[in-house]
Amino acid sequence: MPKKIYVADDSVVTRMFISSIINEIPNVEIEEFANGEEVLNKIKKALPDLLILDSVMPKMDGLSVLSKLKENNIKIPIIFFTADIQATTREKAISLGIAEFVNKPLQKEVILEKIKNILFNK
Ligand SMILES: [Mg+2]
Repeated sequence: MPKKIYVADDSVVTRMFISSIINEIPNVEIEEFANGEEVLNKIKKALPDLLILDSVMPKMDGLSVLSKLKENNIKIPIIFFTADIQATTREKAISLGIAEFVNKPLQKEVILEKIKNILFNK
């Protein structure tokens, strides 16, 4: 069974960048989402092995997705992208069950390592 990864980011360019990184990992399936609402609806139907989540998105932002997952008692590994260095945002995200933070601008090697750790070194 391939590992399933959901990528939620409103930027097409960022999604393409992340997907190109993930494609270097064998036996992985990617599905892309443009906002929090879309990915949340999908998660409720089928859980991924990893959720890669942007912070700032239209319709529903990353923190709101995390709140909803917690509300629904859904526990999945998450990599959370944020350019927001505010301690309150970070604390909120941690309290909502974040697996890993990645700061924007995104660096390929950092992302690749975190994805591999979560998928294969649990
Ligand atoms: Mg964004």
